[in-house]
Amino acid sequence: MHPASFDYLVPTSIQETLDLLTRHGDDAKLLAGGQSLIPTMKLRLAQPRYLIDLGRVADLPSGIRRDGDQLVIGARTLHAEVGESDLVRQTFPGLAHAADVIGDVQVRNRGTIGGSCAHADPGADFPVILTAVDASFAAISPRRSRSIPVDDFFIDFYTTALEPDEVLTEIRIPVPPPNGSNAYAKLANPASGYVVVSAGVVLLRGNGGECAGARVSVGGLASKPFRARAVEDALRDQQLTAETIGAAAARTAEGADPYGDVYANEDYKRQVAAVYVRRALEAATESGARA
Ligand code: FAD
Repeated sequence: MHPASFDYLVPTSIQETLDLLTRHGDDAKLLAGGQSLIPTMKLRLAQPRYLIDLGRVADLPSGIRRDGDQLVIGARTLHAEVGESDLVRQTFPGLAHAADVIGDVQVRNRGTIGGSCAHADPGADFPVILTAVDASFAAISPRRSRSIPVDDFFIDFYTTALEPDEVLTEIRIPVPPPNGSNAYAKLANPASGYVVVSAGVVLLRGNGGECAGARVSVGGLASKPFRARAVEDALRDQQLTAETIGAAAARTAEGADPYGDVYANEDYKRQVAAVYVRRALEAATESGARA
């Protein structure tokens, strides 16, 4: 299958990219790793007249750095770089694990975290763990620069808060305190590798070892990452034992309205989501280790 014909544009700066977006409006699409956009174009679900390649935009951030109490990941950072980063592995093992289980080695070495988040596929991994770790998204347009909290960023199937003339530049994540831990657990579709259900969790421990706070995000239960607030509430002030974790995880799908597909119907997703939330909670309880 071939995409419809298009003009290929190669800006070298963010300013030039914004100028091209302004000039071509809805006729233009940004190209990052191409791992979602190119298949979509081949299926003719997207037919941009202008493709603006971000690959040579020198000032569009790539790579991972610590900035005070935040971890900063450039939008052009490859999935593989996120998974292999010592900084990420030490502070966010859940995020490193999410990167490691995306697609296959080719996808991980071409796809970018910015592209994944901007694409907002309901079966994607990064949106789920980034919701749990309370990330924020830096975006720039000709009109303004702004930071969008994760709970406002993902809106619906393939829809984010990004405006058509905005470029996502960085993802910022608050580094967890010493009493914090995180983990990610995924049930992948055996054919596509995409999420059937997945769970990203962050736990904060109090001085007595009790749960002083939790953020639990679930993939596969909604058109965007689903905050399992019933689980978060059930864990608060509890000692983290197999019993309290199991009882909390059993409440995963409360308030969710999952969509079914040919592989997994709604009831199956509700049930298996609770299993993966439990596994992620157990892993985060042990040490933030991988689930
Ligand atoms: P592109 O495909 O280039 O772009 C995607 C969209 O984001 C486009 O609309 C583009 O305009 C926009 N965009 C890109 N960068 C920016 C930016 N900086 N600012 C604003 N908009 C931007 N993903 C998973 O999470 N889990 C999986 O298991 C998984 N399996 C896969 C298996 C296969 C075989 C394939 C082909 C893909 C799979 N993916 C999976 C998707 C993959 O992670 C993609 O890399 C990702 O969804 C898109 O990132 P990209 O850099 O390739 O973006």
